[in-house]
Amino acid sequence: MKYEKIRKQVLEAILEAVDKRLINGTSGNIAMRDEEDDVVAITPSGISYIGMKAEDIAIVDLNGKWLEGPYKPSSEVPMHTAVMRARKEVRATVHTHSMFATIMAMGKSPELRPITPPQCEFTPVGIVPFTMPGSNDAADKVVEALGEKGKACLIKNHGMFTCGKDMKAAMHATIYTEEMAQATFYAKSLGTYEPMPKEAEKAMQALIAADQAV
Ligand SMILES: [Zn+2]
Repeated sequence: MKYEKIRKQVLEAILEAVDKRLINGTSGNIAMRDEEDDVVAITPSGISYIGMKAEDIAIVDLNGKWLEGPYKPSSEVPMHTAVMRARKEVRATVHTHSMFATIMAMGKSPELRPITPPQCEFTPVGIVPFTMPGSNDAADKVVEALGEKGKACLIKNHGMFTCGKDMKAAMHATIYTEEMAQATFYAKSLGTYEPMPKEAEKAMQALIAADQAV
């Protein structure tokens, strides 16, 4: 099987996302770029992730053209490949319709702020207005919301999109963004919402950056 390593990484990540209830049914999709070739492994469209095999994962080029695999690649392939084209350091991307990120993406001016120190690594979280799923417009808006350094963004009436230098980093961004959204939802429901002070958030981000630079 060609590109076995990235196919296996995508499969493991999607099963972890299902296990953590970040993904239900066939919603959501995950992609991983090869280290040497300009190809991307991505979850196929409309196929149950439970029982999926590594060879079922589709392979596309960086423009989203389907190269390998028995099933059509995810319809969100433009979103994943657009981010990988725009950000050379990004090798892994995750898109979910996870419940709390979706809830917190609604309203007139959604904003997600860190509640706990580890969440500071993933802020600011970009906001993407609603655009038709699978469109190039949606892909462009996600690229714009992530900017040069962003790791996560919420997509209105849809879900979230995260990225990282490897699969572990992209999955962490997904898990912490969902955690942030969940904590915000409950704190706002209780009337006790108080995100971390902006200065503390900046100080944490400096510490995290210094640690990652080592
Ligand atoms: Zn979606």
